[in-house]
Amino acid sequence: MAQFNKTDSGKRLTRLITNGYMDNIVKAQEGAFVVWVAIIVPTEIFAGFENVIYSVPESHSALCAGKGVGVPLCEKAENLGYSMDLCSYARIDLGCHFNQGADSPTGGLPKPDLLVSNNNNCTLLAKWFDVYHREWNIPHFVLDIPFCYQAQKTRDMNYIVSQFQDLIRTIEQLSGQTFNPGKMAEAWNHSAQATLHWRRFLKASQNKPSGITAFDSFVQMAPTLTMRGTPELAEHYRLLADEAEERVARCEFPVPNEKYRLLWDNIAPWHQLRKMSTRLKELDANIISATYTYCIGSLEGSLDPLEFVNLSPLEGMARVQNFTICPHGLQLRGQAMKQAIEDMGIDGVVFASNRSCKVYSLMQMDQQRYIQEELGVPTVMIDVDHADARKYSEETAFVRMEALLESIDHARGQA
Ligand code: SF4
Repeated sequence: MAQFNKTDSGKRLTRLITNGYMDNIVKAQEGAFVVWVAIIVPTEIFAGFENVIYSVPESHSALCAGKGVGVPLCEKAENLGYSMDLCSYARIDLGCHFNQGADSPTGGLPKPDLLVSNNNNCTLLAKWFDVYHREWNIPHFVLDIPFCYQAQKTRDMNYIVSQFQDLIRTIEQLSGQTFNPGKMAEAWNHSAQATLHWRRFLKASQNKPSGITAFDSFVQMAPTLTMRGTPELAEHYRLLADEAEERVARCEFPVPNEKYRLLWDNIAPWHQLRKMSTRLKELDANIISATYTYCIGSLEGSLDPLEFVNLSPLEGMARVQNFTICPHGLQLRGQAMKQAIEDMGIDGVVFASNRSCKVYSLMQMDQQRYIQEELGVPTVMIDVDHADARKYSEETAFVRMEALLESIDHARGQA
């Protein structure tokens, strides 16, 4: 079983996440200005205000799915007329918040004063936030972020910075609070530190056997979304990386007889983390890394860390607006995956075709062909939904993953 629920970092993570959700509810009751954001919105901006807090519906939906309440919440949204084909994060969130936080392990999120989304991960998200905009009459600020088929251009960065400045003015007007750029810069510095430690944590996967599983990284990425810009996050990731390095030094490995080193492509299957990692371990297989988590703190199309030395905080935040995989074209995705395969000694790639996240999944067949035919690395495609367990069959997925392990054996036999 993946070690995330046994390590000190796992216990600390539970405390941080639980306290974060509870703090937000208390602060909102005490009058804080509440913003709901899409995952990539630079939340360090909010740290520049005296009393602005934020919640991340996507992250809350993932938590609901991980706690086993994804399906009942999806069904609540479907009963309100939302299509089963919509992203399950959106269905969980709508099912939860149009039912007063029903079934949520945190009691839902405090009601927002402002919604901030963007259009570079997917347009569905902007439309999902638009539902609250219409139903609750809450302002919705949409960041227009250019896609990146290559490294971000300076003119795109400047365009994004100008929107951040507009966002700051909007919050000042709506909240009546004055923005302090020094406090935002401090938060940005904490984020940069957290990212460096995150990269160090992921490096434990390069060891043979790997010091971590991708499942550990799935679980530990949550505070990147909900606690960005805080010293607590930087400290948590420092300890997380230290602990991973110490475990490797003590030869403690999540899959000690690791025979197959696999890479996962797509969002985590939140409802399957424990089951999937346990069953893979029985096969001496470890999904050691994932595109979903290795992109955090890296340059688009590469695993190399972002460098911010010559950038102001707002420019740095603009520079990372495309860090996730969804806005990347095929070439950038292929480059980064090739580097991951080489750096980590990957034996095979599991492409998880995600029924919810079409933007992540759309290019997978082309990418699979490239990895298999150009790089000669065995691959498999399985069907999942990151949060709606009704759209996943464990047996079908494992039949295919076992076939992948056989392909790896076969490839080794021929080498
Ligand atoms: S479709 Fe994908 S990018 Fe869009 S909200 Fe769902 S998970 Fe996020």
